[in-house]
Amino acid sequence: MTWHERANTITPRTGLLIDGRFRSATESFEVIAPRNGKLVTEIAFANADDVNEAVSSARRAFEDGRWSKRAPSERKAVLMAWAELCRAHGDELALLMALEMGKPAHEAKSIEVRAVANTLAWFGEACDKILDEIPHTARDALALVTREPAGVVGAVVPWNFPLTMAAWKVAPALAAGCSVVLKPAENSPLSALRFAELGLEAGLPEGVLNVVNGHGHIAGKALGEHPDVDVLTFTGSTQVGRYFLEYAAQSNLKRVYLELGGKSANIIFPDADLDRAASTAAWSIFFNQGEMCTAGSRLLVHESIHDEVVARVSTIAAAMQPQDPFSDDAPMGAMVSKEHLERVESMVTTGRGDRAELIVGGERVNQESGGYYFPPTIFDHVAPEAYIAQEEIFGPVLSITTFSDDAEALRIANGTRYGLASAIWTQNLDRAVAMSRGLRVGMCWVNCYEEGDMTIPFGGVKESGFGRDKSLHALEKFFDLKSTWIQLSEPS
Ligand code: NAP
Ligand code: MG
Repeated sequence: MTWHERANTITPRTGLLIDGRFRSATESFEVIAPRNGKLVTEIAFANADDVNEAVSSARRAFEDGRWSKRAPSERKAVLMAWAELCRAHGDELALLMALEMGKPAHEAKSIEVRAVANTLAWFGEACDKILDEIPHTARDALALVTREPAGVVGAVVPWNFPLTMAAWKVAPALAAGCSVVLKPAENSPLSALRFAELGLEAGLPEGVLNVVNGHGHIAGKALGEHPDVDVLTFTGSTQVGRYFLEYAAQSNLKRVYLELGGKSANIIFPDADLDRAASTAAWSIFFNQGEMCTAGSRLLVHESIHDEVVARVSTIAAAMQPQDPFSDDAPMGAMVSKEHLERVESMVTTGRGDRAELIVGGERVNQESGGYYFPPTIFDHVAPEAYIAQEEIFGPVLSITTFSDDAEALRIANGTRYGLASAIWTQNLDRAVAMSRGLRVGMCWVNCYEEGDMTIPFGGVKESGFGRDKSLHALEKFFDLKSTWIQLSEPS
């Protein structure tokens, strides 16, 4: 079956998922397919009252222990079964993502569905391997340091990797024993609803995972301000991250974890494998339409190899033209929405007026489809302080800048308010280590980009936030530590 044919076989869920049931709401919203600009469906959108109900449901589930007090091995069994169901329904989940946010369906399946299943399975496996602590004390006391599930978790996520981001939050929170209220992005509610429904099918008790589709400034804000949410985990823009710190400050001082924007640099030295460096650099900015927090949006090239690298990256860019996300060999799909497409266009227009040289792309394409397509776009000779080298565009737009020595490369790479990721391309081990030590980022890749597995944390520094997804570090944020000091009447 082609993706087009499969699309005719699915009926998306359109309600709010509260207390184990789908239900309607007074507000609604139109989900538009970015591939052709057509209406997919109307969907219920939560207001503050609906969010309140979802939080109450999560709280009831947490307090009566239907999940929080289950044996870790039982929680593990449910998460493992859920991972299997996601694999089994991989086509459907991939299709929903392609439909609502425009990424190629084949990539949604091979990359995102796989990541989601891995995440559920990895944290499922972790459930019954978490240990508490018994510190050494004097003989007249017994001290316990125990990890207790933190309570009700609010998770607010973006649309660019709708299910990977949701799974990175939901899986560790549930593994820890928490209950969750998930607020997907308004542009990607359909995949989140089906994902959660599969969780129920796998055995999550009702109320343990609720999904409140809705607008950020209504449903997201209501979660951020809610006095009965204990932990708020967020992935999205730096601006909205600031709001969540304010919501917490003005409500119950809930713990907030932020994964925010980026302006990451690929740094290519003359001793690098230029073929791999150039093709990976192109992939790192054009993959997922450039809608990636870790996109390699700045290419820093040593002046001696500038022409060669630019020629290679430009050739690859030209071959990565966006196509219908239902096409099986689309290297790129459609931008998430008309508004976002227009935002990217306006940033490109600003770039044109900013001394940089536009050498590839720059104008929207495939307009006859009715969809929102923007091609790979490259600016050369971009000044490090230029607008397009400083601001996150969140589209397929690359800025190329040259440097003359290692110190200058480091200075330029560190010269933004962001600190999410960076890659270094060199065969020289001393240089790679010195650069990686000097880069102020949360993730540093050497001779690769975006590599890693579930064992390593994902997150940034500076205004890219401070939360960490993946790895055992992600689990820690969903526990409270309790210290119990038992005074003995007789030392033994
Ligand atoms: P966004 O506008 O910040 O939205 C993220 C989430 O926050 C959405 O669910 C959104 O709802 C909600 N939201 C928006 N305004 C809100 C408000 N006033 N109060 C509470 N919640 C609100 O980001 P986006 O445009 O979806 O995604 C792109 C951004 O995410 C980029 O900056 C990207 O770098 C970042 N990102 C970071 C990582 C990372 O791990 N560091 C990963 C992926 C993406 P609506 O959909 O209704 O607006
Ligand atoms: Mg937004």
